[in-house]
Amino acid sequence: MIVVIGGGLTGLRASLTIQESGQQVQLIEGNSNIGGRVSSQEIDGFTIDRGFQVINPGYRELQRLHIRTHFHPIPAGAAAMVGGQWRFFGDPRREIRTIVEALPSIASNPLPFFSLLRAVLFARIDEGESAATFLQRIGINGEIYDAIVEPFLRGVFLIELTQVDARFARRVLRSLYRQVPGLPDGGVQALSQELRNRLKSIHCGELVHEVTRSGKGFSVRTESSTISARKVIVAADYSSALKFSDHLPSIHHARSTAWYFTLEHPLHMQHQLHVASLNSGPIVTAIDLAAVVPSYSPDGRGLLSVTTLDTCDESAVRSQLAEMYGEAITGDLITVFDIDNALPILAPGASRSGILEEDGLIFAGDYLTEPSQNGALLSGRLAGESAINN
Ligand SMILES: Cc1cc2nc3c(=O)[nH]c(=O)nc-3n(C[C@H](O)[C@H](O)[C@H](O)COP(=O)(O)OP(=O)(O)OC[C@H]3O[C@@H](n4cnc5c(N)ncnc54)[C@H](O)[C@@H]3O)c2cc1C
Repeated sequence: MIVVIGGGLTGLRASLTIQESGQQVQLIEGNSNIGGRVSSQEIDGFTIDRGFQVINPGYRELQRLHIRTHFHPIPAGAAAMVGGQWRFFGDPRREIRTIVEALPSIASNPLPFFSLLRAVLFARIDEGESAATFLQRIGINGEIYDAIVEPFLRGVFLIELTQVDARFARRVLRSLYRQVPGLPDGGVQALSQELRNRLKSIHCGELVHEVTRSGKGFSVRTESSTISARKVIVAADYSSALKFSDHLPSIHHARSTAWYFTLEHPLHMQHQLHVASLNSGPIVTAIDLAAVVPSYSPDGRGLLSVTTLDTCDESAVRSQLAEMYGEAITGDLITVFDIDNALPILAPGASRSGILEEDGLIFAGDYLTEPSQNGALLSGRLAGESAINN
């Protein structure tokens, strides 16, 4: 028997890999729900994800899984306020109006824009280069950098681009270039649920307290039982995994706060992700999720999801929203939650081992690959393969 601790994407993927090999596996998740950071709940009939995130079906690890869940696409790009007007920026292959609506300089002469796009995807990246240095070195600077590129990517990485590894940033941009991300009915949890439904054995609502060596294997103690295991995979998030090891590398995390408001009437460019200008307040992004996935709302009202990076109060968020949209957002605050360890930071030049093995215990998670669903799935698969083969 192989025990997997943690039912986020890492643990789900590790368990599936082991099950597919024909070996016995038991997944134990501390929460009553599976999914970890890819989970959702219902509040007042609204679908509320655990922080705004999108799923990119173009991720290689998702493609390996042949996911059947349908994702409602989010238009390939984002809207930003430039010179007092909302403008849409995006992938011109998919969103032709990008050329028309973007900066007048791009509209009149799109060729430099395309060569920049090519540079983003293919130009050389120097060792240890940050996403900020790389983008500015290849010529993405000035208005387009300040108004759209940096705020959009800060919304993705939840941290300033000077602190993000350029190669990782490129992998994310390439995945967005390959395929448009989206969201499923039922919230991001639908993805975790699809993986969960493929598994035969899973225990939710049961925290693992201790793992000790026992003969050639391990003894895994939960709240209600003790299980013997040949191998154990710790697929818990970084701060929980620290409980099982004194030797994990030190990894800092980006934090964010997720705010959800009802919307009484549609916003301008209501289907787009809206990015806030740099230094204009605590908000990084806002989006009406019900405009993208109508089933997120029980009654046709909009569902405004707002992400802030620093802790702040509701009045600061409402006042910035009023500035962004030129009118007060009068809807109710449905819920707000702080996500302290949202994303492990992959600093410029940092490298990750994928999994870590210590005294026969296998550690896996996005903090050992890269901070994304793809990173979590990859680490989970590698951990599963290692447990099967050793
Ligand atoms: C706000 C936000 C936005 C994001 N946006 C994106 C995005 O747009 N695109 C993208 O690709 N990625 C995004 N991500 C990142 C992605 O969600 C994560 O990288 C991924 O979900 C991590 O999965 P995991 O399984 O490694 O960890 P987790 O999801 O944290 O799972 C760990 C699990 O272990 C369980 N656990 C912990 N300790 C124990 C224990 N002792 N016993 C039993 N169970 C335990 C926890 O309850 C949890 O369920 C975002 C994340 C956040 C928070």
